[in-house]
Amino acid sequence: MLKKELQISTCEDLLNHFPYKYIDRTRFYKIREVEPDLPYVQVIARLTHIDIVGDKRAKRLVAQVMDDTGVMELVWFQGIKWVEKMLSVGKAYILFGKPGFFNGKAQVAHPEMELYSTGALQRKGNATLQPAYSSTEKLKQFSLDSKGIQKLLSTLLEQATNDISENLPLYIINHFRLVQRVDAYKNIHFPADATNLNEAIYRLKFEELFLLQLKLLKNKLLHNQKFKGQIFTSVGDLFNQFYHHKLPFALTGAQKKVLKEIRQDTQRGVQMNRLLQGDVGSGKTVVALMSMLIAIDNGFQTCIMAPTEILANQHYQTIKELVGDDFIEVGLLTGSTSAKARKKLHERLETGELKILIGTHALIEDKVQYKNLGFVVIDEQHRFGVEQRARLWRKNIIPPHVLVMTATPIPRTLAMTLYGDLDISVIDELPAGRKPIQTVHYYESHRLRMFGFMKQEIAKGRQVYVVYPLIQESATLDLKNLMDGTDIMAREFPLPQYRISIVHGKLKAAEKQFEMNRFIKGETQIMVATTVIEVGVNIPNASVMVVENAERFGLSQLHQLRGRVGRGADQSFCILMSHEKLSHDGRIRLNTMVKTNNGFEIAETDLQLRGPGNLEGTQQSGILDLKVANIVTDQELLITVRNYVQHIFEKDPQLSQPENQILNQSLQSKNEGLAWNKIS
Ligand code: ADP
Ligand code: MG
Repeated sequence: MLKKELQISTCEDLLNHFPYKYIDRTRFYKIREVEPDLPYVQVIARLTHIDIVGDKRAKRLVAQVMDDTGVMELVWFQGIKWVEKMLSVGKAYILFGKPGFFNGKAQVAHPEMELYSTGALQRKGNATLQPAYSSTEKLKQFSLDSKGIQKLLSTLLEQATNDISENLPLYIINHFRLVQRVDAYKNIHFPADATNLNEAIYRLKFEELFLLQLKLLKNKLLHNQKFKGQIFTSVGDLFNQFYHHKLPFALTGAQKKVLKEIRQDTQRGVQMNRLLQGDVGSGKTVVALMSMLIAIDNGFQTCIMAPTEILANQHYQTIKELVGDDFIEVGLLTGSTSAKARKKLHERLETGELKILIGTHALIEDKVQYKNLGFVVIDEQHRFGVEQRARLWRKNIIPPHVLVMTATPIPRTLAMTLYGDLDISVIDELPAGRKPIQTVHYYESHRLRMFGFMKQEIAKGRQVYVVYPLIQESATLDLKNLMDGTDIMAREFPLPQYRISIVHGKLKAAEKQFEMNRFIKGETQIMVATTVIEVGVNIPNASVMVVENAERFGLSQLHQLRGRVGRGADQSFCILMSHEKLSHDGRIRLNTMVKTNNGFEIAETDLQLRGPGNLEGTQQSGILDLKVANIVTDQELLITVRNYVQHIFEKDPQLSQPENQILNQSLQSKNEGLAWNKIS
């Protein structure tokens, strides 16, 4: 039953069922202070009266206690005889329990009662922190409430003392002044005092983060040993021609740095597994393209996989534009590719003639065979499953190098954990001359001002996005939906002076593309859309982003949306429209957007607000199901631990030194559950 209700099936699981809070028994309440919504109260009071009321079937014992501030009722529904015998009227007690209200009076049902004495008081004052455990209704029926679990654990800890063996080497314990593992377990369940408890928690957090990082970095080392990689011996003609004759701008320092990192990776003979993080507009695509050219120079084929058709098209256009005509052929393969075109693509891939293929997950269908795929770029990483990525790998005996690009920056500590076994590159610099996007937050009452501003920008020849969170009206959510919004827009921006494109998820791909194209070509000035335009869309002349009901969007989504503008030379703007009434978090989100353009800073705030488990792309991973440690609040410890583990592997890559033997054992017993990250 413990298994079914709390997933506890072994003694170890039970030991790891940590208290979710500790009840501070040093605090005493006066009766006047007792309120029903307090989780528990401890009161010193004199018993003035007991009474058994009710008939045979619903008998209860009601007692009255008082202190110098008031009277309170206690009630028992069970064990009445025994309680009656135990209590003596006139004596003072230390009572403890969950308060409630009954007939307008404070009442505690089934309180713990202990006769008051200075000794008892002192004991309470010392044994201060009582553990409280989560339980379920079902378990409570079988006396496995918090108290019951506490008893189980108390017994278990007595018996298991010898089985809780140390899993960290002494030198680490000494270096970080950790308490022994067995003591940590004892003290996290039954702390003598706050210091004890803190030491226990620190030790267990350390252990948890340490073993996770040990495992991730070990996997990375193993991966490097196991997976041979294509060696790109030289940088050839294509790359050089492109660099010297085609590239329309100078690379930023950050772009150069990342290219260098990739260049190094592809010469080592080990498969590259690199995550490229960079804010929207930081110029990841050029870096990807130039890396691909190196691969092609070395006789390999390359591909870019994007999560949606719109994005695949966009990449296709961008890359075609960058390479120009007569330089190199670029193929596009998506769900909309005709059977005939598809067949031709397949053939040319098999013969190896086609060197650059861009597409959606159509790229990884079994029918698609490459002659020698050497370099794979995956855009917007979190939308692809791990299995899909692994399938790309298997397209070659020696797996291709993999560059994963994400425009959703991930805080450093989260990346260390989520992608702890990948190498990470960061483009932390925007191309020169980019003007930071100006962001403002308007309430509904400023709508006319917003319209005025739109007109002003459109008069300058600019284009405007207006984004809505929902497509259909929902009775429960007070949202102006897209269609209503479009009506209002159409009235405010009448034909023939203004033209509006509408794009939303319910349109067919061809219709979507048609509407997009009108906007791209400048035939329409306003694009009213849902979040389908969120990622990757690149229209430099669009310089205003209006987000309706901005309070309903998450931070990373807002940031993505804002990234659609600011791509040309003009000053760009983002206008966040919201209701007057905002939640606490909603206000922080909008303020953050107004305050900063930095995606990493925004991601950091997002992490603080939502916690690690709820960030986009992290939900399924399971890797963040930490028991004691918390990636948000324990960032410092995480970084310390990560550096330390790196240091251990530098000194002893095989963990073969005698003092590290214990770590091999610890890794083995921690081996389950993390298998997914082997195939990133
Ligand atoms: P990301 O994919 O990181 O959002 P892109 O690669 O789409 O960014 O680049 C955004 C825009 O900036 C593109 O129009 C691109 O041509 C341009 N760009 C990229 N690198 C530079 C650079 N070093 N200098 C000027 N413009 C650049
Ligand atoms: Mg991009």
